[in-house]
This record gives sequence, C-alpha cells and structure tokens, in this order.
Amino acid sequence: MNNQRIWLSLAHMGGEEQKYVQEAFDTNWVVPMGPNVDAFEQDLGDYLGRGVSVAALSAGTAALHLGLILLGVEPGDGVLCQSFTFSASANPIIYQGAAPIFIDSEKDTWNMSPEHLERAIKDCLSKGKKPKAILPVHLYGMPAKMDEISAISKKYDIPVLEDAAEALGSRYKNNFCGTLGNLAALSFNGNKIITTSGGGALISKNDDYVRKARFLATQARDAAPHYQHSQIGYNYRMSNVVAGIGRGQMKVLAQRVEQRRANNDFYRKQLSEIEGITFHTEPSSNYYSNYWLTSIIIEPSKSGGKTREDVRLALDAANIESRPLWKPMHLQPVFQNYPFYGDGTSEDLFDKGLCLPSGSSLTKEDLQRVVDVILSVIEV
Ligand SMILES: *Cc1c(COP(=O)(O)O)cnc(C)c1O
Repeated sequence: MNNQRIWLSLAHMGGEEQKYVQEAFDTNWVVPMGPNVDAFEQDLGDYLGRGVSVAALSAGTAALHLGLILLGVEPGDGVLCQSFTFSASANPIIYQGAAPIFIDSEKDTWNMSPEHLERAIKDCLSKGKKPKAILPVHLYGMPAKMDEISAISKKYDIPVLEDAAEALGSRYKNNFCGTLGNLAALSFNGNKIITTSGGGALISKNDDYVRKARFLATQARDAAPHYQHSQIGYNYRMSNVVAGIGRGQMKVLAQRVEQRRANNDFYRKQLSEIEGITFHTEPSSNYYSNYWLTSIIIEPSKSGGKTREDVRLALDAANIESRPLWKPMHLQPVFQNYPFYGDGTSEDLFDKGLCLPSGSSLTKEDLQRVVDVILSVIEV
C-alpha cells in the first residue's frame, strides 16, 4: 500500500513559473521591482476586476501592516479584529502600537459576527473611543458576512481592511474577496492557494492608497536626487524574481480553485452522511468559497464519543497531516489582556474542528486514504 506522507496544503506549480524567473535573471532584474512585479500586479488587478489597484509586497503580513498605516492606525487606537484567525491578522495592530479588540465568529461562515462587532463598537463609543478599523477575515476561503459588516462600517464610519490571505478566488455576491472592503490583503505564502514562495499584496479601489503603499514599501523615499525622507518607510516590496513565480501561478489560479473545490466535494460526498461530522459550508448561493482548506466539525455527542483529536491522531498514525482549526486570538497568551466580544462560538470551533488535507495536487487515492482513516475512527 502507498503510505507516502499526505500534507495539509502544498505549493503546486503550473509549469510556466520558471520561464518568468529565468527572464528576471536574463535581464538582471534581480531586485525588488521590475517587469515581473508590474505584470503580476496587472494580472491580479485584471483577475479581481472592479477597477482595483494592486501593490505586490513581500508578505501578506506586510500588506496588513501597510493597510493599517494607510487607515491612520496609530499608538493607542483600537482595531476591531476577528478573533478566529491566524496570528498574522492581529500582529500588525501591535506593530502600530494599537490595541486589538477581538470579535467572535458567527456559526454560518465562522467569520466575524456582525452582532458582536456592533456590540463592541457601541461599547467603545460609550467609553468615548471610536475604533479605527474593522478587520474581518475570510477564513479557509469562506467569505465573511460582508453586507452586514459593510452596513456597520457605513453606519459608524469605520473603514474595513479585509484579510483575504486565504480567499483569493472566493466570491461574495459574485464579487471577489479582496474587492469588498476599503482595503484588502492577499498572501502568496507557500501553503496558500497560489504562491510566490513568500509574498503578499495590498488591494484597493482607491489608487491613492495603493500608490502610497508602494511608496511606504520602498523606504518612503521622497522625490529627490539624494536620499530624502519625510516619513518612516519599510522594506516590504516584492522581489522581481518571486513575482515571476506569481505570474506563472496566475495562469493556473482558476484551475487551482476548481481543484480545491473538487477536493471539498469529494470529502463531502463521502463523509457528510456520517453522524457527528459537519462541514464548513457556504450558507447560501451568495457565498462562493475557494475551499482553500476543507474543514469539518466532529461533534463527540453524535459521533459515539469520538473527538477531533481521535481523528487527528489516527490520521497522523496513517502518515496524513491534518490540523486543528485556528486557536482564537483571545485565547492566545500573547493577546490575553485585550478585550473580546463573543459567545463561545470560535472556542467551540477550535475544540471540535479539523482541517483536512486540501492541496490542489492531491490525487483521488490520497483523498480516499484520508476518508478511509476517518471512517475507521468514527464508523464503528
Ligand atoms: C497566511 C495568512 C496571513 C499572512 O500572510 P503571510 O504572507 O504569510 O505574511 C494573514 N492572515 C491569514 C488569515 C493567513 O492565513
């Protein structure tokens, strides 16, 4: 029997990446600017549509950091941040000397709860302190409840910075994630739906924001023959070498979304009838997830007492990587002193949830191996 390690989410090259990387070498554009960076930004903008501009950066985390700076987040400010996420959503708030205000998830999308968001805003306002930004995440590719969040953003005049790091190719009411807020961050880290090995992008319909982001990302150099600076800058621009990988990956992005969704479909067909297993699911036809990671909830009270850990350890014993859902930020030691508005939803998801191998290069045999192990634990 084939017992090769099955990983959660691996890089998956399309074939044309090296051509663009070679071009960078042939023309000696081995610097953090150049034709690949320009073309990758153009390709991303064309794909996302809606007239967005794109700044290609060194990481998704850098995009979030610049996004906060552009929204004027300063020391002492509060930023309303989804708690159920990867730490990279919240860390840049601290880089700015600001404070995260963590918001729980709702049960449909597992993303920022509009109800708790509004409760937090009202509470902040009653204490005389208006938060500077709303930072929802489209977790595992599932779009957040953007109509509700946008309405709250409008009502209280607080801008939205979307963390779309996991959601390139996902759509909400037919518009791509990354085009739904005032600003958005994408990631091209090695495990994301497409990769540049490491990289990110800041997206906005407001071209001023994006031009400012490029300026800040290249050490905030003023127009002068010498090095002149009137602002603090960062070294956050994307390398022209890795942008070549991105150009190649853009050619297969639509295919990668299809492949991840097909994985999800396979798991769903084999497992959704099983008592005690439920899937992270699009709440309606308004939501289109790239299903970056297929995630399930294992409910011990319905699975004959079998837990997420039982399944995870059985998969690991069979040489298959799976992972608990993100541990909410309000439960992380490093963030324990920041406020949280919620009702236990994300804690429950963290206790019972598991991400299954979801890479676009997985074979039917790989997926079947995963399913067989899960069934061997739960169906007794
Ligand atoms: C990957 C990720 C990031 C960070 O992106 P990097 O490119 O790794 O810096 C931010 N937020 C979420 C939700 C992510 O999954």
